[in-house]
Formats: sequence, C-alpha cells, structure tokens
Amino acid sequence: MDKPLLADASTRLESALKYVSISEDAIERLKYPKASLSVSIPVRMDDGSLRIFQGYRVRYDDTRGPGKGGVRYHPNVNIDEVQSLAFWMTFKCALLNLPFGGAKGGVTVNPKELSKHELERLSRGYIEAIADFIGPDVDILAPDVYTNAMIMGWMMDQYSIITRKISPAVVTGKPLTMGGSQGRDAATGRGAYYVIQAMLGRFDLEPAHTTIAVQGFGNAGGVVAELLSKAGYKVVAVSDSGGGIYSEKGLDIPSIRRYKQEQRGIKAIYCQDTVCNIEEHQLITNEELLSLDVDVLIPAALENQITQTNAADVKAKYIFEVANGPITSAADQILEQKGIYVFPDILVNAGGVTVSYFEWVQNRNGLYWTLKEVHERLKENMVTEAEKVWSVAQEFGVSLRTAAYVHALNRLGEALDAKGTRD
Ligand code: GLU
Repeated sequence: MDKPLLADASTRLESALKYVSISEDAIERLKYPKASLSVSIPVRMDDGSLRIFQGYRVRYDDTRGPGKGGVRYHPNVNIDEVQSLAFWMTFKCALLNLPFGGAKGGVTVNPKELSKHELERLSRGYIEAIADFIGPDVDILAPDVYTNAMIMGWMMDQYSIITRKISPAVVTGKPLTMGGSQGRDAATGRGAYYVIQAMLGRFDLEPAHTTIAVQGFGNAGGVVAELLSKAGYKVVAVSDSGGGIYSEKGLDIPSIRRYKQEQRGIKAIYCQDTVCNIEEHQLITNEELLSLDVDVLIPAALENQITQTNAADVKAKYIFEVANGPITSAADQILEQKGIYVFPDILVNAGGVTVSYFEWVQNRNGLYWTLKEVHERLKENMVTEAEKVWSVAQEFGVSLRTAAYVHALNRLGEALDAKGTRD
C-alpha cells in the first residue's frame, strides 16, 4: 500500500541498509528530522485585508555541512511533505558529494492567485519568520516548485536587511545581478540531461528512434525536454498541470517552450496556436501520458504520480525521475518486477543543488565563473556520480534507487560516525 510521504521515503533507507556498513547510531539518527519549524506569516493583501499563511522550514540533517534546500509555494504544502523533501535533500547532497546537509521549506499558498506585490510581501514575511533558523553557514535556501530567481532575490534582500549585512550566500538561485550563478536557472534540467545521455549510452539506443514522454513542463521538465529534442531524441509527449499533448512524429519542443514562457498552458498552446495545432497532435491527460508506449518516461512534476494504482500500466523501459518523489515505494516494486530501469530523483535532479553549491562558493569567494565553466563542472559531477550509482547497482545486484541510497548512506554514515555522539 502507498504510505504517507516521509514514511514512504524512509522505506528507501531501510532497503539500502543491508548493503552498507555504518553504525546503528548513525542509522537511528537518520530516521528523524533534526529540526522542524512551523510559522504563521501575516501578509497585508492589496485590498487592505490581512491573510495569514502557513510556512515551514525543516533541517533534516546537517552532519556534512549546512542545511541546503529549496522553498516550495504550493497549495498542498504541509509538514509531512516538507520533511520528506528535506530527507531527499540530505541524500541528494551526500550522493553528489556536496558539503551540505539536507533542508527544505514551503508555504501553503497558490502563488498564481497573488499579485506581484502580495508575493513579495509573503516572501519577505517568510524570511522574517524563519530568519533565526537559517544563514549562509546554517541553512541555505533555493527555488523549488513555483518559486523563482525573483523570489530568491527578495528573500536574500530581506535576510540582508535583518542581519544588517549583505548576505548573498544565504540563498542560491538568485538573479545574476544579485550574485546568482550563470546556469543556475536551467541547472536541474541540464543536470538531468547529462545523466540521461550518459545512462542511455549504456543501452544501444539511437536517439532518433528513442521516444520520450515528459510529465511537467516547468523549469526542470521544459529544459530537459528541449535539450533532449535538440540532441535528436524524439520527444513525443509533454504535459503541465492542465494536461498534455502527444504526437507520434515528435513535438516541436522549442516552440512549445517559447509559448509556455508567455505563461500559457500546454492545452491552450495546442488549441490556439497554429504551430502546434496540426492534425497529428492529440490531447492527453497526465494519467495517459504516464502509460504511453514510449522508451523513456520522465516524470518532472510533483511527487506521488506513479503509485500502486497505475504502476502496472507503465510501458516505458527507462524512467528518469526529474521530480522529487514521483514514484511511491509500492510502485517501485511493481516497476522492478516489470524490469523497468528507474533512475532515482536524488541522482537525476541533483543538477539544481549542484549549481546552487557552485553559486554559494562563488558568493563566498567573490569570484564568478563563466557559463562554460559551470556546464563543465556540472557535467563532470553528474556523470561521475551516475557512473558510481550504476556500479553499486551492478555490484550488489540491486535497483538503481537502492544503489543511490547505498552510495549516499556510506558518505552520510562516515560523516555521522566521524562526528561521534557526544554522549
Ligand atoms: N529545489 C531543488 C531540489 O529539490 C534545488 C535545491 C537547492 O538548490 O538547494 O533539488
């Protein structure tokens, strides 16, 4: 049965334990988030009324370095979700060997219903509420679902106002003019692209004959779809929260991205624009996209998309999780029995936090890198760790997800044990 999110996330930890040699103490400590903060954020709305929003920041573990993780704005944000996302960040940072622990934040809000000024007041209010809990050496924020560089800029500015010193390194994913890094905006999609290319290279697949479906067309899904289609892969289906489109012949991804950047939904693009409104296109639901007969499936939207209920319908041979937690652990078992290769989120989508790390380093050095340098270092990190995960999977004969947890756990366990228990 599919479980609550954090309980489900911990299942992955348990299945990796028999392949690692870390102490019982370390294992016990990794079962619980280190600190969880829940705050109320009062925001003056444009009509003069006062609304209170619920916000969270969770630091799951900071043994390997300060907490690191994004802030999500979404109507379904709750403490269980934020703790799970912080758990995944802990393993993601260890897997990529970044000197960070794992953290996450969120506000329960539908940002599409707020004006720009309301959004700014909410973002500054969130920082007011959590300022004592974060810092460049304590816990560093970043964008996540429905947050972006503009919001990160406001957050960094507010933190600098509170602390009375310019503190660019407390937030990554900032605008370039406020100390952001080249390449951070597209880093999650680009990092995923490097992993997909390297891993598909292990199977004899011709890009032109490799069909791909991408669920989610935001900052991660849109970028990965475009890079893959430019590399010659056949992206046949894409979707956003309103639904998707399918074309057997492959989609014109750069055009769809252009329209999408004008804040238009995929369905509207399909229905109203000649570029997409050609006969071979078919409107599909998100559910239908997941069960398409394609070679590669890329869930790049939200968690819990492939569950015990629909896992048996998946026909793709390779799944790359660009979203955090799109497959439940119950669904994992079904996919494994079907012989599907699942490349896990903590590896595939780690490009975002990797370039966040580069941004933090640049902020602290005051020396900024070129886009070329960022891309080269990102590729090197992503491909190196992907190859290690692949070898661990071969060595123990386990799934790629278990291998990723084994690899990350070894690093985490070593750090936890090196620190001792102080008791
Ligand atoms: N929100 C992104 C993630 O889930 C990036 C986090 C970061 O850059 O700190 O990996």
